[in-house]
This record gives sequence, structure tokens and C-alpha cells, in this order.
Amino acid sequence: MTPPANPLLETWTAPFGVPPFAALKPEHFRDAFTRAFDGHAAEVDAIAADPAAPTFANTIEALERSGELLARVSSVFWVLAGADTNEPIQEIEREISPLSARHWNRISMNADLYRRIEDLHRRRDALGLSSEQARVLERYRTQYRRAGAALDNTAKARLAEITERLATLGTSFGQNVLADEQSWTLVLDGEADLAGLPDFLRASARGAAEERGLAGKYVITLSRSSVEPFLTFSARRDLRQKAFEAWVARGDAGKTDNKALIAEMVALRAERARLLGYPSFAHYRLDDAMAKTPDAVRGLLDRVWTPARAKALTDRDELQALADAEGGGFKLAPWDWRYYSEKLRKVKCDIDEGSVKPYLQLDRIIAAAFHTANRLFGLRFAPRDDVATWHPDVRVWEVTDATGRHRGLFFGDYFSRGSKHSGAWMTTLRDQEKLAGDIRPLVLNVMNFNKAGDGEPNLLSFDDARTLFHEFGHGLHALLSDVTYPLISGTGVSTDFVELPSQLYEHWFERPEILREFAVHYRTGEPMPEDLLQRLLAARTFNSGFATVEYVACALVDLDFHLLPSAHNLDVAGFEQESLQKIGMPDEIVMRHRPTHFGHIFSGGGYASAYYSYMWSEVMDADAFDAFAETGDIFDPKTAKALHDNIYSAGGSRDPAELYTAFRGRLPTPEALLRKRGFAPAEV
Ligand SMILES: [Zn+2]
Repeated sequence: MTPPANPLLETWTAPFGVPPFAALKPEHFRDAFTRAFDGHAAEVDAIAADPAAPTFANTIEALERSGELLARVSSVFWVLAGADTNEPIQEIEREISPLSARHWNRISMNADLYRRIEDLHRRRDALGLSSEQARVLERYRTQYRRAGAALDNTAKARLAEITERLATLGTSFGQNVLADEQSWTLVLDGEADLAGLPDFLRASARGAAEERGLAGKYVITLSRSSVEPFLTFSARRDLRQKAFEAWVARGDAGKTDNKALIAEMVALRAERARLLGYPSFAHYRLDDAMAKTPDAVRGLLDRVWTPARAKALTDRDELQALADAEGGGFKLAPWDWRYYSEKLRKVKCDIDEGSVKPYLQLDRIIAAAFHTANRLFGLRFAPRDDVATWHPDVRVWEVTDATGRHRGLFFGDYFSRGSKHSGAWMTTLRDQEKLAGDIRPLVLNVMNFNKAGDGEPNLLSFDDARTLFHEFGHGLHALLSDVTYPLISGTGVSTDFVELPSQLYEHWFERPEILREFAVHYRTGEPMPEDLLQRLLAARTFNSGFATVEYVACALVDLDFHLLPSAHNLDVAGFEQESLQKIGMPDEIVMRHRPTHFGHIFSGGGYASAYYSYMWSEVMDADAFDAFAETGDIFDPKTAKALHDNIYSAGGSRDPAELYTAFRGRLPTPEALLRKRGFAPAEV
């Protein structure tokens, strides 16, 4: 009897070549990964052993074409592992992570391959390459050198061990955090438990309870869009404390304690950097970023930290005064900040989250994001219900441009659920490229918004809506990509540049032109009253000290961990504390991500020593939006075209500083960012 076919290994015949999600079973991945690794390794070995002298086509292009099956299998698997996981998938994830690390190691340390790349690089000026080809060759050489291809065999073997071990540790780290998030709930029962909670939060908490078979009760989870509003509104200080303590303790104790994993990861990263000739992991990491050095990063962070901390301390005193005036009789604690800050916002800006939310319907905010893309780049979005997805909640749109040409598919997976990792992200099931034909991308946005109970509208907070625009901006970077080579497609740019298209896109959400049209009341259909809108926009810098301190502290602690020249038996908790003490972290504020659940830097490590990137990109996004503001038209066609050509469609085809300069005519300066956050020195 022949075994049943594995749909992962067959040609995907569904419209747009979308994976056959309905037919996929976790066990298909094991077999498919094995074959994909073997097939790719054989392709690469053949390229390395090619008796013909190296050419761009027989080496670089051949590498770019290789591994097609692996790319397909991996992309589907990682979508499921992030957005709709389960025990069997988690088990395969634990198996695959080190195997994948070993596979890529073997390729990036292949000495014959590296010799061919070096040879091409030496002769690069005589090869007649296009500028994109020259860039791809440069990127290959840099990546191979940074992976250790130029080292001796002993060092290479140790690097390989380190990489595999890091992959395993990163997977466990993420799974521990997920386990803590899944296992903790706060069940609210009765009016006393619900004190202060507005309707939208009650509705989503009721939905979360129903999902857990607790109909009639209310459940708060550790998902940011559940716990943050709870901390903002709950009048029950005891329950706020309980929720807050569980939230910041993720990955910090018991079976899911991540501290030993962190210590090992930090030590291994330091060792890797040393083997590659760098004084620390931060030096190694930043050498290939736009920032280039730890000093440049710290320079920017310090410039922002000082005014942000000062503002946070002034705000704290006001919050304390408010609590005192209510006869609280306690010193403000971290679980009080959001609550009193919301009260103060009501007083100072005459605005409260509960009055804004009814105007922010999920569907209208999606429409606003699409509308903006239409005005800027001529894109159109048509819903498709004939495309298979991984979960019934996922929605699909076909994207076409002004000429009616198909540009790709956009998948929106908006709601939080137990099978999904927390956070919000963009990823792809397929990247744009032209090497294998006119390949159009399949682009996803994954969010964790609360799903309202039956018959209730899905309403977003202002932050949620901004996040939707943020991830959609990343999505556009992938959708509009117009390059030949997969390596530099879409978001294939340095980490401190990749947040520019996403953060820049947030600016349009916060514009009156957009809010007037799309922020309409879910019941009455009335647009947001003009005075509420103006107050809302004026309130944007309210509490910006807190938000900035919460973020910059993370970036500084991340940098500190990765500046360690070596780190045996690191006391992670002590190091965290010391690092925060050094910068004078206010007692009433806790890092946005404490190390034990700081997935950006320890789960996968994509942002290790690079969490500053958001701030680095914010310097650029604030400065870049000014380019539109200066014309008096937020959709100015000429500026939009320059933005499209040099940023959104350009992928990694040129050096980031070069791309930015091509768009703006110069490099960015931080003044616009400080102004945006409300920290600019008073004008004299
Ligand atoms: Zn982002």
C-alpha cells in the first residue's frame, strides 16, 4: 500500500498557489522538512562543486533559486506555529529549530561556496553586474563572513554548535512564555469584580469566558489587549495588582522560568561575537546595521531617555497627587499608573478611552488602512472568500494596483485565541521576486485583538488601531516590493530600517483627514465629534514620558546584556536590576518587556541588541512624514511616488542610508521625533 500523499510535497493548485491548509496535518511537516533540507543541501553542494569557474549566474543566482521546497514548507509551518499552534506543532517546532539551524549553518560555512563568492567579489567590477546584482553579491559576501565562513574548522564547528543551541533555547523561551499566558486567567464574577470596567471590556471579557466554557462570567487574560485595558479601568486595586504581577512575571518562575535560558543565550552570543573578532555581541550585531556601532545607538537612546524620564517623573507626581486627593493613602505602584493616568487624561484632555472606542470599529479601521494605500499608491483591495486559510477567523483580500494588475494577496488574522502567540506581526507565505517568473507575494497580518461576544461589535482601542496600521505598513513593504532577487525582497533590509515603512504608516491613522471619514460610531454611524477628535489628537503626547521610558529602558537593558564581553553564570535578575538602576528607572514603571518574556530578543533573537531599532526608525518616520506635511498634502503624489520608489518597493536593493537619502534628499535628524513625543525644548 502506498502511504497517503503529503500535500506539502505536491504542487499547490489552489488559486494564487495558496497552501492547501485544510489538507495539512502536523505530521506532514516532519517528512516534508526532511526532504526539503536534503533537497536544498544537494542543490547547494552541486553549486559549490560546479567545475565551471564561478559566475554570478552559476553561483549567486543558483543559490537564489535553490531551496524552493524548503521556503514553501517553512513559511507554512511558521505561520501555524505562530498563529494557530497546538501540542504536535510545538513538538515539531522543538525538533525543527535545531535541525534548521544546523542546515543553514552547513550552507553558510561551506568553504567551497565561500571561495566562489570571494572570487566573484574580488572581480565584481569586471562582471558587468546591474546595481541590484552588485548589492546581492555584496550581501552574500557579508552574510557568509558574518556566519563564520572565513574561520578555521575548529572555530566553525563551535559556531555551529552555538547556533543550534541558541535555536533550541529560543524555542523553549517562547514556549514558556506562551504556556504562562495560556495557563493564567483572572475570572471575574459579579458586579464588585467588574467595578470600573467599560462596556467594551466587559463584552470582550465575556467572550473570553465563553471561549473557556465559563458562560456568564468574565475572563481577563495576559494578552496585551485584555490585561492593559483592565489595568486602565479596573477600580479594584487588589485585582489590578494581581493581574499586573502575573503579567510581568511571565517566564520568571517555576517550570517556565526563562532566566537560565537567558543566561546561556547571552553567554553563547558573546562567545559567537568573540570567535568572529568582535568585542561583544552588540558590536557584532550593529556592524551590519544602519546604526553601525553601540555608541551610535546609545547616543540616540540617551538623547531621548533624559527628557522622557524627566517628563515621566513630573507625570508621576501628578498621578500621586490624584491618588492622594481620592484619599488613596498609598504610594503609587506600577499597577496604578495606567488607572490614574486614564483618570488624569479625562481631567486634562477631557477624554477617556471608553468614549473613543465606540468610534473605532475593526472593519472601518481596516478600510482606513486600505484607503490610505489607495490614495498613496493606487492599491485596491477586493475580498476573496475562495481562498483557503489556517483558521475560520482569517480574512483574505486580493490586491491590485492602479492599472488593475494583480499585486498579491493580503491575509488578516485579527483576533486573539489560545492557539496564537501574543503580539502583532507581519509575515509572508511567499515573497515577491522575479527570478522564478513574476512571483507575487502572499502577505499576512496577525493581531491579537479581543473578539467581541456574539452580536457585539469588534471595537479597537486607539493603540490597537495604530498597531493595525503599523503591521499593515510592514505588509505594504512586502506587497509593493519590486525586485528581482529573493534575498533583498520586501522586508529583507536591516532591522533598524525595517520599522520605517510600518511606523511611518501610523502617521496617516492619526490624521484628522482619515479619522473624520473612518472613525464612525458603531451604533449611530455618526462620525467622531470634531471636538473629541481634536482633543484626542492633542492628547497624543499625554503620558508620552511613561511610554518612552517603558520602551527605552528595554532598549538599554537589551544593549547592556549584549555588550557583555562574556557572561558565565550570569545572574539575570540581578543584572536586570543593576542595568535599570544605572539609568534611574522610576520605581513606578516596569519595562514594557522584562527580560524573562522579552521575545524580541530571546525568542528567536531577531531583535537581540536591536530593540533600539524602533526608536532609530522613529527618527526616520517622523522626519519622513514631515516630507508630506511640508507640502500641505498628506497624500502629495510626488512625495508618495518618491516614497514608493525608494522605500516601499525597493526592499534591500540599496544601502539603507542611500535609500533614505534618495527619498528625502538628506539623512534624518531627531528633531521631528522629539517634537512628536512632546519633548522638544521650549522655543525661545
Ligand atoms: Zn514592526
